[in-house]
Amino acid sequence: MPDASRKFLVGLVCLLAAGAGIGWLYDAPATGVLAAALIALFWQVRHLLAFVRATRTRDFEVFRVGDGIWQQIFSSFSYQQARAARYKRQYRQLLREIRKSTDAMPDGAVILDENHEIVMCNRAAKALAGLKPKKDRGQRVDNILRDPKLTKLLKSETYARAIEIPSPVRDDGWLNCRVVPYGADQKLLVLRDVTESMRLARMRRDFVANASHELRSPLTVVTGYLDTLADDEAMPRDWAMPVTQMQIQARRMNRIVSELLELSRLESAGPADVEERVDVGGLLSAARRALGMPGDTAPIDVVVDSAARLRGSASEIESLITNLVSNAVRHTPVDGSVTLTWRSDADGAELSVTDTGEGIDAEHLPRLTERFFRVDRGRAREDGGVGLGLAIVKHILGRHDGRLEVRSERGKGSTFTCHFPASRLAMPSPATLRGERRPA
Ligand code: ADP
Repeated sequence: MPDASRKFLVGLVCLLAAGAGIGWLYDAPATGVLAAALIALFWQVRHLLAFVRATRTRDFEVFRVGDGIWQQIFSSFSYQQARAARYKRQYRQLLREIRKSTDAMPDGAVILDENHEIVMCNRAAKALAGLKPKKDRGQRVDNILRDPKLTKLLKSETYARAIEIPSPVRDDGWLNCRVVPYGADQKLLVLRDVTESMRLARMRRDFVANASHELRSPLTVVTGYLDTLADDEAMPRDWAMPVTQMQIQARRMNRIVSELLELSRLESAGPADVEERVDVGGLLSAARRALGMPGDTAPIDVVVDSAARLRGSASEIESLITNLVSNAVRHTPVDGSVTLTWRSDADGAELSVTDTGEGIDAEHLPRLTERFFRVDRGRAREDGGVGLGLAIVKHILGRHDGRLEVRSERGKGSTFTCHFPASRLAMPSPATLRGERRPA
């Protein structure tokens, strides 16, 4: 036991004993002890009040000298205080360092709390997005950076994707936004200036769209003359083969040009409209009728397990289905099979095209949606493939909040599945369903 505590206890016991002795002299030892206890209590309360006052006035003079219990309390109190002050200084220094380093970052960094309110932001966030570190503290970030895509990203809670939004401080400027969750419900919003890369991407898109557009007219003329030449009875016989070859290649160029134009249009358009309700099951049946040639292609089965409609663009979903089904048909022998499925549950819907055809080696799967990628270039050229179909599928899915999953095994077949979120689905009215069930 420390000295001061022992002294305090010995003093207390002596005081009580003295009280008992004096009380005994007057034939009332209990009253004597009680009186001594009251004196001890009064003494301690006085010191306690003095101590409380000293913590307010910061004048601890009376507690500084001596070796009593209160001097000991003061010494451990001042030790703790000095320690707390030291920690505070260290934390301040650390905070200054962190602030200096985040201010040196070229990217904007905004710390958000669980309500997406700004806790802190660095200098780059001010320069890139006009955020004011002091004035905007406590404001919801989506009230300042008003963009539906950012609101949606913050609501998504998975924060998986980065988005691009127009810069709020610079005409023609673009910001890339990424949300990184950390700690308990806190998030870091990272802003990056992507104006230059967006400008280059737009230049590339415009160039491809303009070049494709310009190629269209001369190609139409060439195709027209070739068709006339092919139909001309007076054409020398040894020209027949080269003219047919030219016709095939001209048609292929026409297809490339149309698909490039389609890709450019999809790339520059925003998300697909949600007003239109697409009957995916109906489109799958139509694709079976259009692309299944009994005897020439593998048989196509359609399995529709859901009446849900897809909110989006019917013409784009039709193009997506045509691309997937024509691929399946081209890569599956006549004795194989192709199955088209539409199903949905509470989490969303799936449109899948499964074939029992040649399949694709795993090493090629990550590159399938790249433009002009073909597993077997020579063969693709022969069967009319240009390598743009799956790139178109990917873009259409992107515009419908969907994603493509490909499962395939060489020699066994492939399944291309398009996943759509529940937010893109709508149930048709009972009247519409009754109308569909009625025999034609
Ligand atoms: P293409 O116009 O050549 O079909 P796509 O972009 O549609 O271009 O497909 C890219 C490549 O992916 C094709 O060249 C083909 O090698 C491969 N592929 C696509 N679908 C299938 C399938 N169902 N089975 C096997 N290979 C496929």
